Amino acid sequence: MSNKINAIRGMNDLLPKESALWLSLERTIFDLFISYGFKNIRTPIVEKTDTFHRAIGQATDIVEKEMYTWADSNGDLLSLRPENTAGVVRAMIEHNLPREGIQKVFYQGAMFRHERPQKGRYRQFHQIGAEVFGADNAKIDAELIAMTHSLWQGLGLKNVSLEINTLGSAEARANYRTVLVDYFTQHKALLDEDSTRRLSTNPLRILDSKNEDLRNLIETAPKLMDYLDEASAKHFEQFKAYLECLNIPYIINTRLVRGLDYYNRTVFEWTTTDLGAQGTICAGGRYDGLVEQMGGKSCPAVGFALGLERLILLLQAQNLSVGKQPLSIYMMALGDAAQLKSLQISTQLRQALPAVILYNDITLGSFKSQFKKADKAKADFAIILGEEELNNNQVAIKPLKGQGEQQRMNLNEIVNYLKEQK
Ligand code: ATP
Ligand code: MG
Repeated sequence: MSNKINAIRGMNDLLPKESALWLSLERTIFDLFISYGFKNIRTPIVEKTDTFHRAIGQATDIVEKEMYTWADSNGDLLSLRPENTAGVVRAMIEHNLPREGIQKVFYQGAMFRHERPQKGRYRQFHQIGAEVFGADNAKIDAELIAMTHSLWQGLGLKNVSLEINTLGSAEARANYRTVLVDYFTQHKALLDEDSTRRLSTNPLRILDSKNEDLRNLIETAPKLMDYLDEASAKHFEQFKAYLECLNIPYIINTRLVRGLDYYNRTVFEWTTTDLGAQGTICAGGRYDGLVEQMGGKSCPAVGFALGLERLILLLQAQNLSVGKQPLSIYMMALGDAAQLKSLQISTQLRQALPAVILYNDITLGSFKSQFKKADKAKADFAIILGEEELNNNQVAIKPLKGQGEQQRMNLNEIVNYLKEQK
């Protein structure tokens, strides 16, 4: 009988075999966002439950059934963050940041939702997101799209499309809500259990239903687009004009309402058909009312989050790698004196060649077994320090991939030789 403990269902280990791709992807995204003028923000993984209730909305899937919530020993209700916009907004208000001018921030990290685990859907998953506070024009909405678009291009991704919609103002949505409730009430017999409940709590969310049986009913429902207020309609026109000028194709999806209550005006999703049902890799929109709703001074805002697991799955499905594989060398030594010297030499090599991966042999076996280890590490070169090399103040270098003879060189020559590779 085994008494080993496994991880929690839907919460995955990231193992060394796969983590290189994650790291390269994260670095690529961070560098891109930084180049667009975003600065990193990190908020706690745990917040008061109220933070999420107020931001996300009571009648949403997340708050109704997906949050990990418990009472702290002093009775406070706390939750693991299911998303990070709520925490960022809380921090913006707490530290008065929007008062200092426009804030462009990005975050990264684990989010937690108690969902049914399946491919592309986990209970702990990771997002990188960006938020902009203090700008209400469509130019910034479009710049966020441009930034994500250039990410897909830089990664070489194919088959991703942009879906956009507008949710108008709070008032326009309230008017539309009445129309929508009338419509669905007329067809009440066709609704499923979830949607019947939503009819009284959050009718717009019916449009977001993933139930295929409701597709026709939703398709022919009245469209918010026809009930827009003038300012939101103009904002949407401007948003589209920017996208056209950027040459970024889009699809208007009037059913796109997003799963969180805080959005208004622009909403968007980047989707792919390569990942089955979990096809949204990035989603966001404008949430001009949220800062005030959470107790801050009114401040327009817009942002998005991308799902890293889904992005990784998509890269793998399309056979794409990220970044350049660095050169690697395996440093071997035999004998006590050579072992001592090899650590010294490897320090010098690391300083001269900071981008190179240097594996120092720590098995202390025969050269034959060290060569096996070097192959296993998939090293490009072996650097060898035996008695003879030691006596001549040299090392030997041998290419491990393809052809090439073993050669003796001094340290400077080695550095120059390796700099010329790849
Ligand atoms: P979905 O409709 O797929 O449930 P969502 O609308 O709940 O997505 P958001 O809250 O907008 O998702 O989160 C932004 C992105 O985070 C999603 O587009 C997706 O890529 C990713 N994401 C959301 N939930 C999960 C999850 N449970 N597992 C993995 N990734 C997720
Ligand atoms: Mg969801």
